[in-house]
Order: sequence, then C-alpha cells, then structure tokens
Amino acid sequence: MTEQRSYFSRGCVRELPGLLAEYDADSVLLVCGRKSFETSGLEPIITAALSGCRLCRFSDFSANPTLQESLAGARLAQAQQCSLIIAAGGGSAMDVAKTISAFLAMPGNESELVEGQVALQQPTLPVIAIPTTAGTGSECTSFAVVYIGQQKYSLADDALLPDACLCDPSLTDSLPPAVTASTGFDALCQSIESFWAAAATQQSMDYAREAIPLIMHHLPTAVNEPTDEDRDAMLWAAHLAGKAINITKTTAPHALSYRISSLFGTPHGHAVALSLGAFFSWHEREDIEFSDSMTTDQFKVRHLELLSMMGASDGQQASDNWYDLMRTCGLSLQLEGSSVPRSPYLDEIIASVNLQRLANHPIKLDSAELKNILTSIPAV
Ligand code: NAD
Repeated sequence: MTEQRSYFSRGCVRELPGLLAEYDADSVLLVCGRKSFETSGLEPIITAALSGCRLCRFSDFSANPTLQESLAGARLAQAQQCSLIIAAGGGSAMDVAKTISAFLAMPGNESELVEGQVALQQPTLPVIAIPTTAGTGSECTSFAVVYIGQQKYSLADDALLPDACLCDPSLTDSLPPAVTASTGFDALCQSIESFWAAAATQQSMDYAREAIPLIMHHLPTAVNEPTDEDRDAMLWAAHLAGKAINITKTTAPHALSYRISSLFGTPHGHAVALSLGAFFSWHEREDIEFSDSMTTDQFKVRHLELLSMMGASDGQQASDNWYDLMRTCGLSLQLEGSSVPRSPYLDEIIASVNLQRLANHPIKLDSAELKNILTSIPAV
C-alpha cells in the first residue's frame, strides 16, 4: 500500500509551497471546481504557491464526472507536459484528478481501465489533494468514481491514493448549508456502512467509531449555525470515514444511490442518506439472512453499538432519528416532488443495482427486499 503524507489543521494549506518544492515540477495541472476555487479562498494561495511554474487549470467536469471529461483533462495535461496534479475541491474534483493520473499512465486504455478490464501497470503522476468539502474523504481513498452514461464505475488501485493531502478546515467555511448537509451525510453514511460491512476490520471500525459520534454531534450546527469547531470536526470525521471506506468499501445504500443521483441530480450524500435510514429497522427483522462472511452474533454486536451511536434503543427509533436528522439539516425526503415509496422510478433504481456486488452488505438482499426497504422511507 502506498504511503500518504497528510496534513491536518486550520491553515495547513500554507504548507503547499514547501510540499511543491519537493516535486520540482515545471508544469502543474490544477483540477478544481469552477466557482469553489474562489469561494473557498484557495485561489490566491495556490496562485502564489505556483508562481514559479506553468499552471494549467482544468474545471470542465460535472458533479458526477464522466470518462469523457477526465479524458479531456488528461489530454490537456499531456499537451502541457504536466508532471504533478493538484486536486483542489470536493469529491468530484479529487476523483477527476485521480482518474486523469490513471489515464495518463495508460493512454489508449481509458475505457478498459474504468470498466476494470485492465489494471494499472505504469506509475501514475503524483496527486496532491486539497479537500474543500467535508464529506467524501476522497483525499485518502484509492478509488475514483467515473460515469459512462448513467452507469457508475469505480476505478480502484492502490496507486490512486493521493501522494499527499492538505486538509484545512478553513477551506470549508464557505460551504453553503445544503452542501454542508449532503456532504456531511456522505461522511456519516460512509462511516456507518463501513461499520456494518462484511469486510470491516478492527482498524476500519475504529475509524468509524471515532467519526460517527463526531458527525452526529456537529452536523446539525455545521449546517445551521457553524462554528470553527464544527467545521474542524466535520472535516476530520470525513477524513476518518474515507480511511474506513478505503478498507471496507461501501454497501447497499451507496449501491442504491448512484441511479438516484444520475436520474434526479440529487447530490451524492443526500442520495445515499435517503435509503440508509430505512436499513436500521430492516436489519432487525426475524427473517433476514446474514451474509456468508458475517455471523449472527457478530452482526448483533455491531448493530447494538450502532444503535447506541445513533442515540436509539431499537432499529425503528434509529430510522426515525435518521430521518429527523435529515429534516433538521434541510434534506428533502422526496424525489422530484414524489415521495420515495410513490416514485415511478423505484423499479429502475433497483434494477440498476448489481445484486452480486452486494456481498459486502451484512445481510443478503434481493430486489423484492430492496423495494420493501425503499417503500418504508417516510413520505415527508
Ligand atoms: P462536489 O465535489 O460535487 O461539490 C459539491 C458542490 O460544492 C459543488 O458545487 C462545488 O463547487 C461546491 N463546493 C466545493 N467546495 C466548496 C467550498 N469550500 N465552498 C463553496 N462551495 C464549494 O461534491 P462532493 O460531495 O464533495 O463529491 C461528490 C463526488 O465524490 C461524487 O461524484 C461521488 O461519487 C464522489 N465520491 C468519491 C469518493 C472516493 O473515495 N473517491 C467517496 C465518496 C464520494
């Protein structure tokens, strides 16, 4: 596993010039959001840090970045002979930067890489990640989400772990409430899914154990009346959630979220949160069958610990608390004006889930169960 250098403190982005000096790069590709580069306060810091080299900025990507978009970024980096990539922004910017570094390593094999038909065989360009949202933890994961049409793929390789990350909570001070809410829920969903995942380890559970209570405590105020303490805690928790998910990967709520995002443009964390709450009560049903790599006792111990972290004494109360938290954070429970249970797109959402890939969920699930879970989400 590649080692990563990480910096975490308010103001640590000012370490960038020192870090850059180590790479001796003449030409740098900066992958950043179109507006967030300015609003986060990063623009003057990065421009000054890169004053001695050629800076090529790439912002032509969407919230759910596509293969074609990263291909355009890779062409720009190639034409400008970039030898370093800085990813400054939310999960989308960081994922595009990682994808570009993979594409540059294996030109001509882009679709095959994304579809998992070939593995990375050449060294990738170094990436320095600077998150400006507190959610994805992409700065410390070795995968990148890429869309081909409406189909979501995950490019995964140890070499995609950014070489270094600068996690400076002051860059998240400018996040509007809606983005704070959806990205914060992404971090919460990642920690919870990682905690109950069949692939969980002691290490991943420890990361999640630290992240979940921090998010439960700080998310409502981070959204509604943020203090520096809330922003600091949320970025740290999102980073821990990234580390947890990097070990375990995700489970059913993430699998259900991708088509919701591509159909309705629902922000990623919001889309995952819509279904996650309903799993707490479903996980207590008598007739569930556990995943092959999970014993009943193992699951029950984890479930009880999760309930306690959710401030609940049973699954129904945890589900209720979950949807109350979403409402407090201003996240709608509706899909394009219709409640989830009444959505005409339910079957399409369920059909988009590859059931074989759900082996990491702690219980076995089929399409009928997924439908029952989605129809148990409250209407408002
Ligand atoms: P995002 O990157 O799309 O950013 C959300 C919005 O916030 C954008 O409009 C952006 O411009 C704005 N923004 C960012 N920083 C800001 C700031 N400081 N101030 C004001 N506005 C700011 O959203 P995200 O939730 O960070 O990332 C979502 C993407 O990450 C999805 O594509 C998802 O699939 C992916 N993801 C990747 C991983 C991974 O490990 N690779 C994990 C989870 C999610």
